Amino acid sequence: MSSYIDCDSYFLVFADCIPTRGAKNSTICDLTRTTLEVFPSSFYPFFEIFRKSTVKEIYIDLELESHIEFTKFLDFLLEKEYGMFVDDLDLFPELEKRWESPELINNAIVDVRLRKHDFGVIFDQLNSLGCVYVQLRCFESLYTIQELSDVIKLAEDKSIQSIELIIKYHTSFTDQDYVDLYNDHVLISSLFVHSAPENKVLIADFGYKGEDQILKQEIHREIHFYTMPITGASHCGIIDAKYFSIGDVQSFMHNISYNSCLNKKISIDEEGLIKNCPSMTHDFGSIDDNILIDVVAIESFRGVWGVNKDLINVCRSCEFRAVCTDCRAYIESPDDFLSKPLKCGYNPNDGTWTDWAEGKEHAIVHYGIDI
Ligand code: SF4
Ligand code: SF4
Repeated sequence: MSSYIDCDSYFLVFADCIPTRGAKNSTICDLTRTTLEVFPSSFYPFFEIFRKSTVKEIYIDLELESHIEFTKFLDFLLEKEYGMFVDDLDLFPELEKRWESPELINNAIVDVRLRKHDFGVIFDQLNSLGCVYVQLRCFESLYTIQELSDVIKLAEDKSIQSIELIIKYHTSFTDQDYVDLYNDHVLISSLFVHSAPENKVLIADFGYKGEDQILKQEIHREIHFYTMPITGASHCGIIDAKYFSIGDVQSFMHNISYNSCLNKKISIDEEGLIKNCPSMTHDFGSIDDNILIDVVAIESFRGVWGVNKDLINVCRSCEFRAVCTDCRAYIESPDDFLSKPLKCGYNPNDGTWTDWAEGKEHAIVHYGIDI
């Protein structure tokens, strides 16, 4: 093990490596490599001291028995390339923790069951809001493949840059129909088929037959079929480490500043009601009678956008709060809007994951969730 006891330099934690303190464990997120490491929270206070004291001064202030642990921690930070020794910290300013985006609405969910929405109107209105991402969730096989294709076409030449398509398996669609649908629309960023007879993956390659491996990889898209049915909006809201967004600076700053799910989101539910998200009970009127831009102007519609994890009970002491998704539609205590997401099984106090549904019968019955 190395020793840094005589080091007169400061330890610089790189600006893009950001620690988050949790109750038992803490994390450090490397926003350039998009990696996340967990470490005991007892080490977290060093991040606060690093910018005030040289390494030697930190050793002097520490009890002798803590020297070995501190040295190990420095070894860990150096080995993972989270920082380095420097003589002048002022040359390395920290990243400003803020997030901005020009669009009024960044993403939208549109649910479909039995009602055929007027997608021409919806996409025009989303365009006027600058909406970039759309998730289209179809719980029933309402549309033929041609109709789905026509719906996607209506989103072309607008602000919308990608559509995530979740559709129910249709017995009359062939595998080639699904592949053609994907290949025909560059706007489709992902295609999931639920209620399928088997779990499988189809490849869409936009007709590329060449041998260029890099190009092949670039255009290679997968269509995922799942036997699991998605019968309604209540399937949403699962919190799991595999959905953590260990992304770039943008997404990190967004997550710590705003609600990671609902900020700049607007939704049309299966009945055509405008909501923050289709699972919310409160609506802002029908898309048939209201203009989306007017709804976005309503203060109470935007109120939930600023509910970041620092405001949410339990989450505020969780080391994953900067990378975690959120859910405000299904919460542990339905009467307390700031309670933890219902479908999270993580306990930051002891650092364990359990089945999220355990002991939550009251809320599950309240929301009528089928599990
Ligand atoms: S608030 Fe919950 S249910 Fe609504 S979109 Fe977000 S995760 Fe899904
Ligand atoms: S929902 Fe809250 S408690 Fe659960 S993992 Fe995310 S931040 Fe942690």
